[in-house]
Amino acid sequence: MIQPVPVTLPTMSEATGETAAVTEQASTPTSRIPGFHKLSAEQRIDRIAAFAGMGQEHREQLSAPSNIDPHLGDHMIENFVTTIAIPVGIATNLRVDGRDVLVPMATEESSVVAAVGNSARQCYDSGGFTTSMSGTEMIAQIQLLDVPDPHHARLRILERRDEIAQVCDACDPVLVRLGGGFRELDVRLVDTPTGTMVIVHIVVDTRDAMGANAVNTMAERLAPSIARWTGGRTLLRILSNLADRRVARARATWSVDAIGGTHVRDAMVAAYQFADNDPYRAATHNKGIMNGVSAVVLATGNDTRAVEAGAHAYAARTGRYRSLSTWEVTADGALAGTIELPLAVGLVGGAVKIHPTARALLGIIGVSTAAELARIIAAVGLAQNFGAMKALATEGIQKGHMSLHAQNIAFSAGATGEEVGEVARRLVADATINEEAAARILATLRGR
Ligand code: NAD
Repeated sequence: MIQPVPVTLPTMSEATGETAAVTEQASTPTSRIPGFHKLSAEQRIDRIAAFAGMGQEHREQLSAPSNIDPHLGDHMIENFVTTIAIPVGIATNLRVDGRDVLVPMATEESSVVAAVGNSARQCYDSGGFTTSMSGTEMIAQIQLLDVPDPHHARLRILERRDEIAQVCDACDPVLVRLGGGFRELDVRLVDTPTGTMVIVHIVVDTRDAMGANAVNTMAERLAPSIARWTGGRTLLRILSNLADRRVARARATWSVDAIGGTHVRDAMVAAYQFADNDPYRAATHNKGIMNGVSAVVLATGNDTRAVEAGAHAYAARTGRYRSLSTWEVTADGALAGTIELPLAVGLVGGAVKIHPTARALLGIIGVSTAAELARIIAAVGLAQNFGAMKALATEGIQKGHMSLHAQNIAFSAGATGEEVGEVARRLVADATINEEAAARILATLRGR
């Protein structure tokens, strides 16, 4: 069971479908936990458990993050043999829509979790992050081939809107009962080297589900009728991961004082301009954003590939691959960042509901709707982008990254316990971070 922290939930405007940002401050504990990084893992879990009002079951799941039950693994995928553990860290200092949140991030890459916490700290006093969401609608596509009269057929399909709505909704009474279900019909003609294809889009509000299975079922159920109405042949029936009806947005401002001066601000804006105008840079810029986004998507048991595909397709929606974020200077000189990306994540369905660690980690974030989770993930993406751009535009990425990377090198050279920190410190001091140097330092430490 998710244990939501009591907050005012987003309200859905009937007219626009837009969710309004939650601005009231809820009486929740603070995400500012100075010295969190100095605590032991057990102590950190204690702090998180207190923050999230976590029950004993989730507390134990987090304390013993061993492999999942083989029966569950066998149920989740085919030919199951084992699991691979990915560390989960907690990003602190995030304030999203007036509420302090602690966000679990599953990642194998050092610096990622620390960067989010540092970036969020620097905008905490200016209000943190404000977020919104375009809706929770997914698109399923039905591909029609060999339609003799595509334009005529397009209108014949559109005329069946009500019938199509009924077929879709009948597939998923649970979803309809929860306020979701069919929303819109679109029919596109796509010219290809093998002829004009008729592509039917059904738009479905999947509420708190990511929705792939839900909309795929509807597309498959509809396809025979559509083939009959048009005289064509249906082929693919599957959702689109370009979930542009499910765009999460976040914005924040950083004061010049908080980030270390106008030269830092201006360098960051120049870094952004580079990314937005050069796809070679944009790919890496957006990869940095996805460091944060995918880490939360994975920690919550959601589909990282679906979100990654959607994000990159969205970044290229103008015909040119661009930055998912924007950075500019406000009238009073602050640095203002925004991010927009499709975030098809759920609180039910897929692995979300059955993976015990994902359930426990979702309990820390304390959200009650998938939209709220998506909005927090967007905020994490923006914070991650701020951190990477600031490092790149000032001291360079290696300084912060390498001190953590040095610890991994120390580990792989065989360091244990307190040796790890000492070997890493000496590696960084010598500015030579490789396994050979680590082994040499380790041997010296051990008196060999
Ligand atoms: P699902 O079918 O397991 O669960 C969704 C269903 O849960 C809904 O259809 C509804 O009947 C029910 N439900 C209960 N409470 C709900 C609530 N509050 N809100 C909405 N629905 C509720 O899962 P899904 O979300 O349809 O599909 C997600 C899975 O599909 C993921 O595991 C994903 O990896 C996988 N998938 C992805 C792709 C892709 O991205 N291209 C393709 C196929 C499958």
